Amino acid sequence: MGVFNTLFSLMMLFPTITPIIPMVEETMQPQIEIMVVGDIMMHTPVTNAGYNPVTKEYNYDTYFDEVKSIFAQADWVIGNLETPLAGQAMGYNGYPRFNAPMEIAQSLKEAGVDVLTTANNHSLDQFEKGLVKTLDHLDELEILHTGTFRTEEERNKPLILEKKGISIGVIAYTYGTNGIPLPKNKPYMVNVYNLEKIKEDLKKLEEAEVDYIVAMIHYGDEYQRFPSETQKQWTSELMELGVDFVLGSHPHVVQPLEILNGKGVIYSLGNFISDQRWEWKDYGTILYLHLQKDAIKNRVELVEADAIPTYVLKTRTQGKINYRILPLKEKNPLIEEEVWLKGQELFEHIFGIKKITSN
Ligand SMILES: [Zn+2]
Repeated sequence: MGVFNTLFSLMMLFPTITPIIPMVEETMQPQIEIMVVGDIMMHTPVTNAGYNPVTKEYNYDTYFDEVKSIFAQADWVIGNLETPLAGQAMGYNGYPRFNAPMEIAQSLKEAGVDVLTTANNHSLDQFEKGLVKTLDHLDELEILHTGTFRTEEERNKPLILEKKGISIGVIAYTYGTNGIPLPKNKPYMVNVYNLEKIKEDLKKLEEAEVDYIVAMIHYGDEYQRFPSETQKQWTSELMELGVDFVLGSHPHVVQPLEILNGKGVIYSLGNFISDQRWEWKDYGTILYLHLQKDAIKNRVELVEADAIPTYVLKTRTQGKINYRILPLKEKNPLIEEEVWLKGQELFEHIFGIKKITSN
């Protein structure tokens, strides 16, 4: 894996622990792998590039060709869907009031994404109707979701992922909805950051005896490479309340990862896909969390956190724009040297370290 070395990041997290894990012990204990990506932004060129004028259909499968085999190694893949999928009748649109074809979710599913969080500043871009349609479409595609809700009953049922004897509670909250008010008398439709509501969610997850809790939080200042005071404050609030790993989204650039008292945060995962270019906006990361159940302590623990930087390759062939998400994990002819080197720099930025030379 070159510098994106798994043992290396393990050592960064647990510098006092020798990174050699006896394989026998490891296989005896249930373990799972979670991968998380950041903002899925459907700017107009990104939406249009999936259109085939001959078939008059949208398809985004090729965008994810390079990440599919990575996602295949995970038990769960989670991302932040930052656009309504309100249907063609409402007109597709990019910034500032998004509406994208449901085919993007279909291609994400095809690529291996299992869960999409929907609480973000674009949740209400197509108002209540768009919010409802989005969730209907995700249900149709059998993609799990949380963060926005059609009914109060739906909101009150927490999202729990279960596999290999390990259960994970997922919550998602946003700082706001770009000034678009929540539908009248329906405050349950969008999870807007509120400690009382979060406490209720966590209580439900505790009652369900989940092993681990992750929170996708849409917060922070756009284009800032380091967390704001608010991000730090919210993160510590969430950890104190029982969240095990905070997954940050919204700044459109990747911010660092920290481990605090055995709990973790990545302040921003960056853009997984978007049309934003330059100054790190065309980079993102796949966060990788390896959890293991300690049979003696009967507790699930984070044994490894790693990251694979990603780059949104935008090309033009014969006037047609194409996008492709490139994992910067192994060298590949599609990855230019400059992009590769920036990927290494981004990895260092995430882990707050200077690269250790390795071949
Ligand atoms: Zn946002």
